[in-house]
Formats: sequence, C-alpha cells, structure tokens
Amino acid sequence: MSVPARIDLHTHSTASDGTLAPADLVRAAADAGLDVVALTDHDTTAGWSPAVAALPPGLTLVRGAEISCRWSGAEPAIPLHLLAYLFDPAEPHLAAELARVRRAREERGERIVRLLQADGVPVSWTEILTGAGGGTVGRPHIAQALIRAGLVATTTEAFGPDWLGERYRLPKDDIEVFRAVALVRAAGGVPVFAHPKASRRGRIVPDELIADLATAGLAGLEADHEDHDPAERAHVRGLAADLGLLVTGSSDFHGTHKTVRLGAHTTGPEAYERIVALARGVTPVASS
Ligand code: AMP
Ligand code: ZN
Ligand code: FE
Ligand code: FE
Repeated sequence: MSVPARIDLHTHSTASDGTLAPADLVRAAADAGLDVVALTDHDTTAGWSPAVAALPPGLTLVRGAEISCRWSGAEPAIPLHLLAYLFDPAEPHLAAELARVRRAREERGERIVRLLQADGVPVSWTEILTGAGGGTVGRPHIAQALIRAGLVATTTEAFGPDWLGERYRLPKDDIEVFRAVALVRAAGGVPVFAHPKASRRGRIVPDELIADLATAGLAGLEADHEDHDPAERAHVRGLAADLGLLVTGSSDFHGTHKTVRLGAHTTGPEAYERIVALARGVTPVASS
C-alpha cells in the first residue's frame, strides 16, 4: 500500500514574516515528512531561488506567494489574502504591483512605529527593518519589537486590540481582489483564496463575492486552516463543491511567529494535480 503524499501549500520564510530562512524552511519541510511544500511569502518571490538551491531530495517545491488584497464592496474595504501558485515572477504587471505593495507595507510599518513612539513606546523603525532582514515587512516584525521591549509576552498578545490588532493597526495599501485574480492568471498562475472564512481574524467576505471571484478566474479555496473552525471548514468545502473550485489545506507555517507546525493541515493529491495542470508560469521543482 502506498503512503499518501503529504502536501502543504502555504508557508512563510524570512523573505516575509516567517522565522526560517527559505533554505532552512525546505529542509524543515523534508524533516516534517512532506512530499510537496509551497513557499508563499507575503507579496514577494524573493525566497524562491534560495529555496530551490537548498531543495532536499524527495521534496517538491511549489513556488508561490500570498498576495495582500482588499474587497471594496464593503465599507470600509475588507482585507483578504490570495495565494498564487506557479506564476511567472517576471510578468511585469504582477511584479510591479507586488513591488508597490511591499513599498506600501514599509511606509505603513513606519507610520505604525511613529504612532507607537508618540505614545512613548520604545520601538525604532531601524530595529524593525533589521529584524525583517530585507524580507517583506509585516506586523509580526513589529510584534517582535514589542516583545523585545517587554511590553507584551507573545505575538498573539501583540495582535490584541490594545496593540497591533486595533489601536495601532493601519490598513495596507493592497490590490483590489478582482485585479489580483486577473494579474495572477495573466502571469500563468493559479489563484486560491487563503483562509476565506477566518472570522476570528476579522471581517470576512460574503459567499456571493466568492462566487463572483470564481467566475473571474479564482481556482480554489483553502478550507483546512488553523483559523477556520470545523463549521467554517465544512462551509468552505460545500461552497467549493457548488462553485467547482478545488479545495486546499495548509499549515500557513510562520516558524516561531506562530505555533502551527509544518504539515499540520494538508492538501489532497487531486487538488494539487489540478493546480499543476492549470499553471502556465513556472513548474514545480524537484531536486535532482
Ligand atoms: P500584516 O501582513 O502586516 O497585516 O500582518 C498580518 C500577518 O500577521 C499575517 O501573516 C498573519 O499570519 C499574522 N497574524 C495575524 N494575526 C495574528 C495573530 N493573532 N498571531 C500571530 N500572527 C498573526
Ligand atoms: Zn504572515
Ligand atoms: Fe494569510
Ligand atoms: Fe499566510
């Protein structure tokens, strides 16, 4: 009897707000017994090359990204995340938008730091940039500075309402989601809606929007994710079946910035094969 493939399609490295370098991430994925891992850093492909270079035998790498999007059909707009797999990183329109979002994240991070400083919180932007190590800057990096300053004990606490969850939260200058789906498709990529019903993280979008996105080229929905409760996972599966979308499950591993482990949730081989078959940008990479 063959052992089913273990496929985890959503992870972060130090190219964004994870804590393992891309090379260490692929080694950790192999150690965790994964057969396929996707590297999906926020708004960047910077981790792709070092991950490919360090790919251990037996592991297949799916090159991807998690794109910061918004839906402006609600007031105020609802932020959401789009996983994009196997797109051409050199496609100029998508690459330009990702570069714009990364710059906007830096400006936003600096503004959050200024708000904190105005209230006497001892954090510095230079320190946070150093902590991010050249990767896409996000609130987890500011959370680490708050922990170092002894103001909070954990990342979870830093994301509470007194800190980065509300009081010092600023919106990101992200990409309108229909435009993002079109850009990913035009770059030969496969767009999958990340944790679409994660209500514990904040406001979520209605099913009608997901249906419209499916019409516009969305390929799948992430159902098994730690931020979905069992009812939300079941709802996402039902919705995907109704709309003809593929279903994924993934850890959304962030190293020590989160407690979830690699392979904590996985994707079935059929869904993975559908993603590979739809992709026109780059191919999965297996070490030779
Ligand atoms: P940002 O992209 O700067 O808005 O920050 C969001 C990032 O922080 C995402 O990658 C989330 O995975 C992470 N995040 C959001 N909420 C939490 C939380 N409560 N604890 C730890 N990480 C979180
Ligand atoms: Zn993240
Ligand atoms: Fe996400
Ligand atoms: Fe993520």
